[in-house]
Amino acid sequence: MVSTDWQKELRERGYRLTPQRQLVLEAVGTLEHATPDDILCQVRRTASGVNISTVYRTLELLEELGLVSHAHLGHGAPTYHLADRHHHMHLVCRDCGTVLEADVSVAAALTDKLRGSFGFETDMKHFAIFGRCADCSRKAAEGTAAGRAAGTGAR
Ligand SMILES: [Zn+2]
Ligand SMILES: [Zn+2]
Ligand SMILES: [Zn+2]
Repeated sequence: MVSTDWQKELRERGYRLTPQRQLVLEAVGTLEHATPDDILCQVRRTASGVNISTVYRTLELLEELGLVSHAHLGHGAPTYHLADRHHHMHLVCRDCGTVLEADVSVAAALTDKLRGSFGFETDMKHFAIFGRCADCSRKAAEGTAAGRAAGTGAR
């Protein structure tokens, strides 16, 4: 759900809330982890004349204003969040593509250590951590076990 604070926020900073900007912001809030292309599709349901460069420009502006932020979940286009909802890391499963959200506090031990050792403030939200989800790990383990069983059976 999109809060109405951003309307005030835009006005206060001297930006007009054009229908297009509003649609882009709403699409970001509705879709979650949406690429600019996803956002374009969603916006076009209401405003068919909008093109991808408008979406890019609008996302850039909204990000500058601190209303949206982006994260990279893979090699493709960045994905967008409402900024006030983006306090999680992304765990991406290499096998099924599932994206899990883990609160940044999960990585506190690591980020504390990096701060202590390097004076480095780590942004755990910007890039995803890749691995294998619980389901796929189980399937992979079963697959290996089945493969071994089949292998022995054939001999
Ligand atoms: Zn996310
Ligand atoms: Zn980035
Ligand atoms: Zn998976």
